[in-house]
Amino acid sequence: MTRLFEHPPPEILHSSHPAHNLTLVNSDNAPPFRCNGCMEPGCGPRYTYDQGGAGESFDLHTCCALAEEEPTIKHPLFRNLKFTFLVEPTPPVQGRLCDACGDPARGFVYHCSKEDLDLHPCCASLPERILQDGRLFKLQRKASRPCGLCGNNGGRFWAYRSYFDGKAVDLHVACMKEMARLSWNAALENRVGGAQIVRPSEASIESMLESLPANTQSSHGFDQFRRIATSVAGGIISVISGNPAALITAVVGGVLQ
Ligand SMILES: [Zn+2]
Ligand SMILES: [Zn+2]
Ligand SMILES: [Zn+2]
Repeated sequence: MTRLFEHPPPEILHSSHPAHNLTLVNSDNAPPFRCNGCMEPGCGPRYTYDQGGAGESFDLHTCCALAEEEPTIKHPLFRNLKFTFLVEPTPPVQGRLCDACGDPARGFVYHCSKEDLDLHPCCASLPERILQDGRLFKLQRKASRPCGLCGNNGGRFWAYRSYFDGKAVDLHVACMKEMARLSWNAALENRVGGAQIVRPSEASIESMLESLPANTQSSHGFDQFRRIATSVAGGIISVISGNPAALITAVVGGVLQ
């Protein structure tokens, strides 16, 4: 996994933007951005150079900005594999997807040459286990159970699995990213109009969990399970938006490896 930097440096000079220092913006309220490293949307902490006025800013997720410090990583899902940081995917770039979220890999990426796998740096920082209020959500390489968000069975990409009432429930990472994308798009549009920023909405997560089978939803304790899943999904969205510390208190076992 990408390393969690407890004290990220306040300023860095990055090889992808050598003309200026990039400053750490550690605010949850800063506008959303598109990372100039991995090309994926972001929200929350970032390294930035802002030209001011109407000038374009240059932004990097903190995990993307600091990935050169951590050129090789392992992920608990692939214990024997090594992932190497690349500033662009290996050819053919066209059609390369992140094996965690299923979105295109177009920029900074962790690549495993042995199995030809690619991970966005933010996706690589997703923990293997999340323990929230006594419920365990464990990361799987592939979904195989109904997703609590989209209701679809299975999927090629990562999912967090938990159990409710003896039934496995998967939360697709791709579905959580899709939810976040809707908020990102809304926020980016609002920014143009100068309005307030929209954060990924937990209300949308709750309503999507209603796609679980009706007999599950009427079970005792479902409301509590839904609250827990909502909060887990919110944490996962924060991590894939570029805030790897969001889940640190909920993670089981050694994340700092
Ligand atoms: Zn990035
Ligand atoms: Zn990804
Ligand atoms: Zn889904």
